[in-house]
Amino acid sequence: MQNDSGKTISIWMTTAKVPEKLVLTENTYADVCVIGAGIAGISTAYMLIRAGKSVIVLDDGPIGGGQTSRTTAHVSNVLSYGYHELEQIHGKEGAKHIAQSHTTAINTLIL
Ligand SMILES: Cc1cc2nc3c(=O)[nH]c(=O)nc-3n(C[C@H](O)[C@H](O)[C@H](O)COP(=O)(O)OP(=O)(O)OC[C@H]3O[C@@H](n4cnc5c(N)ncnc54)[C@H](O)[C@@H]3O)c2cc1C
Repeated sequence: MQNDSGKTISIWMTTAKVPEKLVLTENTYADVCVIGAGIAGISTAYMLIRAGKSVIVLDDGPIGGGQTSRTTAHVSNVLSYGYHELEQIHGKEGAKHIAQSHTTAINTLIL
């Protein structure tokens, strides 16, 4: 997979079979056009499709490229910063939101 977004190489960059990049050859229509086929764009497209919308995802590079290809692929609510540190930086409510958002992400991916 060609990717000049960084220097680290993950195992999936050398082993994953990424679908051929399709090229738009005609005008088309969808409810939503998402730019970027990294985890943010693909997740957004997936959630929109689950909500009944039609979606086009555009990317000028490989699907799942960018930083997404370099991830260590852990999904966790145990973060590099401890929650006591996050509370000092963002306050109790902020730390609670951080915990909730990561937990929601895990549950969303599992369901
Ligand atoms: C070494 C490393 C390890 C990591 N480990 C983890 C981890 O374990 N867990 C975790 O949650 N996160 C991890 N991260 C962070 C995570 O990889 C990123 O936060 C996440 O992948 C960002 O996703 P993204 O979709 O926003 O961006 P990207 O994956 O970079 O995707 C953006 C996409 O948009 C496309 N694009 C940009 N501009 C345009 C344009 N103008 N037109 C068309 N296409 C465009 C790019 O080609 C790219 O494909 C890690 C990051 C690194 C570097």
